[in-house]
Amino acid sequence: MPAAHEETLSNKAAKKRRRREPPPDPQPLPGLVDAHTHLAACGGRDAESVRAILDHAEAVGVGQVVTVADDMVDARWAVAAAEWDSRAYAAVALHPMHASDLTDETATELEEMARHPRVVAVGETGLDYYWTTRSDDCAPPDVQAAAFRWHIDLAKRVGKPLMIHNREADRDLLDILAAEGAPESVIMHCFSGDRNVAQECVDAGYTLSFAGTVSFANAAELRVAAEIVPDEQILVETDAPFLTPDPYRGQPNQSYCLPYTARVLAEVRGVDALAMARVLGDNARRIYRLPLQ
Ligand SMILES: [Zn+2]
Ligand SMILES: [Zn+2]
Repeated sequence: MPAAHEETLSNKAAKKRRRREPPPDPQPLPGLVDAHTHLAACGGRDAESVRAILDHAEAVGVGQVVTVADDMVDARWAVAAAEWDSRAYAAVALHPMHASDLTDETATELEEMARHPRVVAVGETGLDYYWTTRSDDCAPPDVQAAAFRWHIDLAKRVGKPLMIHNREADRDLLDILAAEGAPESVIMHCFSGDRNVAQECVDAGYTLSFAGTVSFANAAELRVAAEIVPDEQILVETDAPFLTPDPYRGQPNQSYCLPYTARVLAEVRGVDALAMARVLGDNARRIYRLPLQ
């Protein structure tokens, strides 16, 4: 029998090991598209590593992904990934946290990238009020709002969907969007609102994209929101390497984990998983205008 403190230590070590361990492969679910991931942050920074991530995803039915930029360096990675691999498409923008990086120079470069044929959306942009009070590196709300307005206009100019990041900023975000005039296609990435915000977004014609958070034990209200979204307005994403779905919360996330979340959505909406995957995949291909596969 080990001493009590040894047991505690080995429990801690086991927990730590588990946190680094990738979740097992889910049962394949064909036809899915990962509507929002970060390939570079998942380790995909050259053609070979991107191919490995996408091979893994494709093996469980996730045939295409949209890789999303946070800052200028990331935006260049995202466009490069989309050029390296035909299964990857890009979205470019400055994340609200990095809104202070928007200058004449970066604006020009972002607009050029946004017009690239393999860039399918402008994002992620929006408002993040969670980090403004918790990180010195986070742009203040007024700077975020100005950058958000610029990105809304950019999406309209290039005629591509606007992909929105919203953390604890529901009211301001929806107000700015309404005041500026929303682009034709708006995607609320990693939707995290309650049923009222969901209904307001649905009524405005926005698309709601659900991440692994919808599977979390404390997310009952989010599951209600996921239930009321019409078939044509729902997407599924990993936001990898973050937000790994239950029961693997805290472990590294990648696009191959998408079927776990798609199955949760199927369960919440009371439909067959294969049918749900078809709806989710078809929506992504239509909204991002991806070539059919
Ligand atoms: Zn985000
Ligand atoms: Zn993201």
